Amino acid sequence: MHELALCQGVVDVLREQAEVHHFDRVMTVRLEIGALSCVSAEAIEFCFAAVARGTLADGCRLELSRIPGEAFCLDCSDTVAISERHDACPRCAGHRLQLLRGDEMRIRDLEVA
Ligand SMILES: [Zn+2]
Repeated sequence: MHELALCQGVVDVLREQAEVHHFDRVMTVRLEIGALSCVSAEAIEFCFAAVARGTLADGCRLELSRIPGEAFCLDCSDTVAISERHDACPRCAGHRLQLLRGDEMRIRDLEVA
């Protein structure tokens, strides 16, 4: 499952951060999920709890926020908001869009102890 791999990646990052910054418990993880990423928040919550079990993030709080998709339209030469990967440009209805962000999941910040 896609979400399982993503959560494993998050826990790996937490472990690396713990070594660099010398903390041994993660209390809260805030994640941003791009609107175009096809990631299900419910699946993330479920997978994260499973992956974090027995690690420094066991039982930590998970806060998820959605970030909108953004693309650059080659026809308008402007940045526009999109909600689906294959949306047309909301200004000119063109399809020559380059995705800038919104298809990723990333850690926004952490609370650690
Ligand atoms: Zn356009």
